[in-house]
Amino acid sequence: MTVYSSSRLSAFEKCPRQYKYAYIERLPRKVTVEAFMGTLVHESLRKLYQDLMHARLDSLEEILSYYHDMWEKNWTDDIRIVKEYSAENYRKIGAACISDYYNRYKPFNQSRTLALEKKIKIDLDGYRLHGYIDRLAESAPGCCEIHDYKTSQTLPMREHLLGDRQLALYQIGVEETWDFIEQTDLVWHYLVHGKELRIRHGRMALERLKSDTIALIERLERAVDEDDFPARESELCPWCSYREICPTQKHPAKISKMPSNTYLNDPGVKLVDEYARLMEEKQRYMKKIEDELEQLREVIIAFAEREGLEVIQGSHKRLRVKKTWRVLYPTKKEATRRELDELLKKEGIWMDVSDLNPYALNKALACNQLSRELVEKIKRFQRLEESYKLYLSTHKS
Ligand code: SF4
Repeated sequence: MTVYSSSRLSAFEKCPRQYKYAYIERLPRKVTVEAFMGTLVHESLRKLYQDLMHARLDSLEEILSYYHDMWEKNWTDDIRIVKEYSAENYRKIGAACISDYYNRYKPFNQSRTLALEKKIKIDLDGYRLHGYIDRLAESAPGCCEIHDYKTSQTLPMREHLLGDRQLALYQIGVEETWDFIEQTDLVWHYLVHGKELRIRHGRMALERLKSDTIALIERLERAVDEDDFPARESELCPWCSYREICPTQKHPAKISKMPSNTYLNDPGVKLVDEYARLMEEKQRYMKKIEDELEQLREVIIAFAEREGLEVIQGSHKRLRVKKTWRVLYPTKKEATRRELDELLKKEGIWMDVSDLNPYALNKALACNQLSRELVEKIKRFQRLEESYKLYLSTHKS
């Protein structure tokens, strides 16, 4: 049975194709400098609290020297740097995170540490999850705190934390593990910004997160059954370990590494440039023709009205100018629409005059608005037909 984790579920949410590479095909991941620095900061704070649990208060210098030693021992040139900063820049950011944290919380007596890197098991209606809590602490008898260290450059908004799955799941696991816990605070340390962010979830919020997580796992298991893992491009792609094999990124990644004077000879570049040129030409031409036709149409209608004509004779063709009235019915947004639908169904002519909207049905299936059972029943009526769509967008690599 698959054991899930919050990071595993997030990977699927962010990009199903990346999930497949990492968790199904188990392709090796490349370490980024951000992840490397984050791991060492976590490890340094773990050591700080580990020593405190053994009645030793490390000085800031000792912790920083531990951090720098680990950096020296573990750094390799395989670690990827995506942005335009150097490894040294990241090393300094990590050291600053540790110093700021140390100076803010010294002598670290705000709470009693119960566990570090604590493995927590969570059972969600038969689905098994696990995770590791950076620091589990008790601030007062029965008052538990789940601490999480972040070295991300982005400070999240409160709404984001309220919807954060990771610590909420840990809370469920912790409260099921220990009876003495009466209340739990979730505490995020955004170390780059020197901010401590706290949330206390009510029962209802936890129940909602629980059912959302179960729905996500069901979606994931359906994707596994159907081998359906589309690549979902995002601003995170430059950090993805699988750019060189991903169907959306491998060609842009290859081109971005080529010198500007040689990539124009790449067959893919040539094809896209030609396609873009012809599409632009087509759009320019069509726009010109449409504008001319619209102007002419207005002149023709005015001429026909002025002369009282329904037919105008040309040298080879004749043009009929017919005034018509379009009959409109209430749209789905109008209250009377339901009344009309009911009337047609009652009179038995619904099937003769209505039509299935495949776009709306596919959207309902994709958005998980329907039960799994209904989805299966609908899918029995589906037929797949291969087709290609081409979308031009602006260059970004
Ligand atoms: S490069 Fe982007 S789209 Fe491709 S697998 Fe990675 S995250 Fe997904």
